[in-house]
Amino acid sequence: MPLDASEHDGPTAPDGTLWWELTVEPGTRSKPFGQERRLAAWLWFNKEIGDIFTMNELRDALGPDIVGKSEHLNRRLRTLRAVGWVLPSNKDDGSLRPDEYRVQVKGARYWLAEDRRAHRPFAPSARVRREVFLRDDSRCVVCGIAAGESYPGEPNNKAALTIGHRVPQERLRTRRTADDIDNWRTECARCNEPVRDEIPDPRQHDEVLAQVRRLNRANKRTLLGWLQRGERTRSELDRVYDHARVLTHNEKEDLIAYLQSSAGSSS
Ligand SMILES: [Zn+2]
Repeated sequence: MPLDASEHDGPTAPDGTLWWELTVEPGTRSKPFGQERRLAAWLWFNKEIGDIFTMNELRDALGPDIVGKSEHLNRRLRTLRAVGWVLPSNKDDGSLRPDEYRVQVKGARYWLAEDRRAHRPFAPSARVRREVFLRDDSRCVVCGIAAGESYPGEPNNKAALTIGHRVPQERLRTRRTADDIDNWRTECARCNEPVRDEIPDPRQHDEVLAQVRRLNRANKRTLLGWLQRGERTRSELDRVYDHARVLTHNEKEDLIAYLQSSAGSSS
């Protein structure tokens, strides 16, 4: 039987157990009570907004099965972040120690079936994904890479595309604005929000500025446009490349031969 959220505002489940101490779904014999649900309930009832928590604290409160390793904890925190929780770590906020996290915004009451349903994670259908990829020329709108292309300077690291959000879901929720196809965009896994905390630190401002200074005027203008739009637009040349790169092997060989003769002779 689904729980009515309004009747379960307190820290205890219908049987009187604290939510974060449940191991089995209330009303069932053996259906496991999810770790993310226990974590959300513990944070909700034991931490105020602005409070800090650590991995050791969670391990003491919830046991090693929830936070055995930092990657386990990170996965569970990602689940909560996807349903409206804002939980900065040391990577988001340098004033936090490496083992510290802050409760900045409490999101969905994930331990309640109703709240969990209302914040179902974003899972677009295959049809919608195709539509978004097609509209965006099957390239990451952030960095411009296509599926299967390698990242510049990393020949063994090939990009995979996914669907991301122009405006984060939790922000739309607070504005009560619909999350629809206009808000979805093609992103490579690296530029996509949930994994952003796993990529190396971005370059320093002065490093980037030095690179920008070396660009010619036309490239500076293009870069300015991309930054102002918040995405990389595709040039005529990019579009031709998109079409050329998916030709058959023989067709590509022909094209290369053509370019070698024509591009070579005109320069
Ligand atoms: Zn990208």
